[in-house]
Amino acid sequence: MKLLEINNLKKSFDDLEVIKNISLNVEQGKVVAIIGPSGSGKSTLLRCATMLERIDSGEIFYNGECAVSTGDNGIVKYASNKELRNIYSYYGLVFQNFNLFPHFSVMKNVTDALIHVQKKSKKEAYKIGRELLVKMGLSDKEDAYPCQLSGGQQQRVSIARALALNPKVLFFDEPTSALDPELTGEVLKVIKDLAREHMTMVIVTHEMSFAKEVANHVIFMDGGVIVEQDSPEEVFGNTKNERTKAFIKRVN
Ligand code: ADP
Ligand code: MG
Repeated sequence: MKLLEINNLKKSFDDLEVIKNISLNVEQGKVVAIIGPSGSGKSTLLRCATMLERIDSGEIFYNGECAVSTGDNGIVKYASNKELRNIYSYYGLVFQNFNLFPHFSVMKNVTDALIHVQKKSKKEAYKIGRELLVKMGLSDKEDAYPCQLSGGQQQRVSIARALALNPKVLFFDEPTSALDPELTGEVLKVIKDLAREHMTMVIVTHEMSFAKEVANHVIFMDGGVIVEQDSPEEVFGNTKNERTKAFIKRVN
C-alpha cells in the first residue's frame, strides 16, 4: 500500500525553480533514502511533502487521502483544515537541529503533543513516553533538559517525540549532520532498529554507507529533479547516471 504518493510536484522561490517536477511513492514498511548535493532541493521536497511549505503545483496523497491537488486551471487546492489535521497525524518529522523545546524536560518534550494535541491523560502520555525513552536508550534522562544532553541524545529525544504520536511514516532531514562524528552512530543505530521493525521512513542523508545498509530504495536528486532512483545495490553498485557517479565518488 502507498503511504505517500507525490505527483508532479513543483516549487519555486521567486525565480528559483527548486523542485522541478518530482513524483515519488513510498510504500508501507519501506525505507527511502534521498541523497544529493547541497542545494539540490532535498529539504524543500520534505518541507513540501509535510505541508511546511506551500507547493506551486502537483499532488500529494497520504494513505490514499488527498492533501493537495492541482486542477486543470492550475489552481492548487489543499484539503480542509479538518482533513489536514487527520493527514498530519500520519507523519512525524525529525530535523537536523533537533528542534526540542529548551525549557521543557525530556519527558515533557516527548509527551507535550500527546497531552495537548491528542488529549491523552498525563499518566497515559508518560507511560508512552517512558517506553519510548527506554527504546531510545534514554530512560535515565526523563527529567533532564535538552541543554544537559549531548547532540546524539537530543536527536534521540526528538525521534522519541516524533514516534510518540504513532505516525505511519517518519521523515528525517539529515538527522546526523549537526552531530560530532562520534555521536552519529548512536542515532543511526536507533533508525536502523526502526527499519528492522518495518517503520516506514523517508531519510535525507549524506551518510552513504548508512543509506546503502538501511534503505530499500535510494533516490538521487540534483538540481530539483530525481536523476536516478533504484535499489541501493543498483544506485551504489551499478550507478547509471554520470552525475550520480560523480556525487557518490565525491562523498565517499
Ligand atoms: P538541500 O536540502 O538539498 O540542500 P534546499 O531544499 O535546502 O536544498 O534548497 C534548495 C534551493 O532552494 C537552494 O538554492 C536554497 O537556497 C533555496 N531555498 C530553500 N529554501 C528557500 C526559501 N525559503 N527561500 C528562498 N530560497 C530557498
Ligand atoms: Mg537540506
